[in-house]
Amino acid sequence: MGGGQLGRMFAHAAQAMGYKVAVLEPQADCPAGQVADRHIQAAYTDEAALAELAALSVAVTTEFENVPAHSLAFLAERTFVAPSAACVSIAQDRVAEKQFFTRVGAATQVLPAPHAVITSSGDIDAAGAELLPGILKTARMGYDGKGQVRVKTLEELHAAYAGMNGVVCVLEKMLPLAYEISVLVARGVDGEAVVYPIAENVHRDGILFTTTVPSQNVSASIAETAQKAALEIIAEMGYVGVLCIEFFVLQDGSLVVNEMAPRPHNSGHYTMDACITSQFAQQARAIAQLPLGDVRQHSPTVMLNILGDIWFEGASDTTREPAWDQVLALRGAHLHLYGKAEARRGRKMGHVTFVATTMELAQANLQQACRILG
Ligand code: ADP
Ligand code: MG
Repeated sequence: MGGGQLGRMFAHAAQAMGYKVAVLEPQADCPAGQVADRHIQAAYTDEAALAELAALSVAVTTEFENVPAHSLAFLAERTFVAPSAACVSIAQDRVAEKQFFTRVGAATQVLPAPHAVITSSGDIDAAGAELLPGILKTARMGYDGKGQVRVKTLEELHAAYAGMNGVVCVLEKMLPLAYEISVLVARGVDGEAVVYPIAENVHRDGILFTTTVPSQNVSASIAETAQKAALEIIAEMGYVGVLCIEFFVLQDGSLVVNEMAPRPHNSGHYTMDACITSQFAQQARAIAQLPLGDVRQHSPTVMLNILGDIWFEGASDTTREPAWDQVLALRGAHLHLYGKAEARRGRKMGHVTFVATTMELAQANLQQACRILG
């Protein structure tokens, strides 16, 4: 379900393992549709199309979290679906997600940020008194920093909520972040779970910019706490497949759980080139009900996201192809382009992973690539 880059890389991995892949996606010429054995071009809620997909498939998964949970439930009456509609519904809704994290956090001691649910302007004054400065986030459909507004005062909070068109929101306290990490976990139908190394993430304008693994900041004890919390979360949900959980590490060294994505994740792309089993091969294994793959990392690595901005010459509308030959000349550079027809500013067009014998070398190549690509 879904025709984006995550679906494309999943299709590549599943096809390498001998499977055929069908993609349901309304858009023509989409990244996953280009490589799939079959592209069913239909809305995610089209029941005839869903029935067709189910009839073709031994298993169905999703590559984006906003696929209607109802569609997954419909598919699950006809074929094996993982992750389940119930798991995806939790991750689709910040209110349900935070409730779930709070419940699991009683055991793991890793809790979400202090927050309040805002369902009407009447909720604002009480919530604001405790939580400002904060971030107002829509409960549903937010991603890459979209659907959120930073607010310092009650006035700003009222204005921000008025701009949300009456949808349910969560107000979170603004926390003093030291850095951000994510933990990729996977679980099989038999309940066996595996956890990848801690990934350290830097965002720019709300979009992931780089992922560094091993993390240069995380201590052994924070890493262990985060991995344990991730394993507890995936087990508690009874989740099947790959799940990515984002955490904040605060300036006092404490750990806060932020959000989760019920699918492979941008911060897990490094696994394609630096781990024995990529997150996409892992997803294929999990839904095919095969034993999970080895998650060990074999090389230090840094991943750089490639956004459409670098196609543009300065502020003008003229575009040109970036100098990929120069990037590929860097030792240990793995370029992954997603086949998107048109470059747009802020659009994820691809990524490059730098693997090397040492982190210093990987980072030097990253710096060099940033100079080449501007
Ligand atoms: P998205 O769905 O857009 O990824 P997130 O909840 O992950 O939404 O927020 C995007 C980014 O905003 C985070 O990666 C982090 O840098 C920052 N952020 C989010 N919530 C907080 C918070 N409570 N305190 C400080 N920074 C935050
Ligand atoms: Mg996020």
